[in-house]
Amino acid sequence: KGPNGKYTVTLIPGDGIGPEISQSVKDIYSAAGAPIQWEEVDVTPILKNGKTAIPDAAIASVRKNTVALKGPLATPIGKGHVSLNLTLRRTFNLFANVRPCASIQGYKTPYDNVDTVLIRENTEGEYSGIEHEIVDGVVQSIKLITWDASERVAKYAFHYAQANGRKRVTAVHKANIMKMSDGMFLSACRQVAKDFPGIQYDEDLLDRACLQITQNPAPYADRVMVMPNLYGDILSDMCAGLIGGLGLTPSGNIGRDASIFEAVHGSAPDIAGKGLANPTALLLSSLMMLRHMNLNEYADRIEKATLGTIAEGKTITGDLGGKASTKEYTDAIVKRLSKV
Ligand code: NAD
Repeated sequence: KGPNGKYTVTLIPGDGIGPEISQSVKDIYSAAGAPIQWEEVDVTPILKNGKTAIPDAAIASVRKNTVALKGPLATPIGKGHVSLNLTLRRTFNLFANVRPCASIQGYKTPYDNVDTVLIRENTEGEYSGIEHEIVDGVVQSIKLITWDASERVAKYAFHYAQANGRKRVTAVHKANIMKMSDGMFLSACRQVAKDFPGIQYDEDLLDRACLQITQNPAPYADRVMVMPNLYGDILSDMCAGLIGGLGLTPSGNIGRDASIFEAVHGSAPDIAGKGLANPTALLLSSLMMLRHMNLNEYADRIEKATLGTIAEGKTITGDLGGKASTKEYTDAIVKRLSKV
């Protein structure tokens, strides 16, 4: 917190529609009087020793502020480029990916009662990147599970449940088949559960969880689900599908050295620069950020104004079936802020 009473947060506007939706978030925060001061940085890759890298100034800003809001980054096509998202994940040890999915009134899908929170281990598991060919025609891919990473993500899941009023943590797994790897993930979760007597703990097979959530997501509104990398990657998109896709889903990457909040969608090059983009996912991600910083009151107020504007349905963007521009939608939220 600075001398002006504001918290400095790094803002990475990103590519494509990134700058437009970032502007919308900034406008809404000013109107809401949120105590955030944005430190804008550019992460356009530079060449360092012949390799693409994120500019040092951007890394230094995130390291100093420890909290960042990030717009979508276009992945450069062609060989030799590292994924910037992957670089950020590695640089700041972003070990947990948090993906809430809640039904949005005014955006109709076959489900009205989705309110899931999924926490995915983000550093190892099936995505360790250790693959090799043993003999011609036979490859092996290593799924790496460590006690430390499992315990770390489990602890975060219980803390999240406690801080967000959820009464249960469910570990999602396939330990019936992968007895040692998923078995250890579960052991770590069980051990952490003992330190949180106020939070219930149970376990669910991944396939059963998919079946049950798609049949009736309502019972999952009381809990946080925690799981290894690959399962979380798939299950989080499945939950997003229940509320209408990736267009409105926020996410948070919680790390040892910093936490970065971002929308799940990409840079939408097809509509970039046209003033048509929907800023809601980035805005909802920023509200996760505010809650992470214990600024819940501001988050609740901005959320009410945003969801109220969508539910009313008069001033919504094209992707939600409306005709409003990014600016008109932003102005409607700002207007509504004074009523909530
Ligand atoms: P995309 O999400 O950018 O676009 C898919 C479709 O959804 C497009 O029709 C687009 O117009 C629409 N859309 C997406 N966000 C929208 C919004 N906020 N408002 C209105 N419409 C929206 O996916 P893509 O086209 O596969 O990817 C484009 C680029 O984004 C690629 O370079 C990709 O690598 C990158 N990407 C980045 C991230 C990230 O930084 N986290 C995530 C996904 C994709």
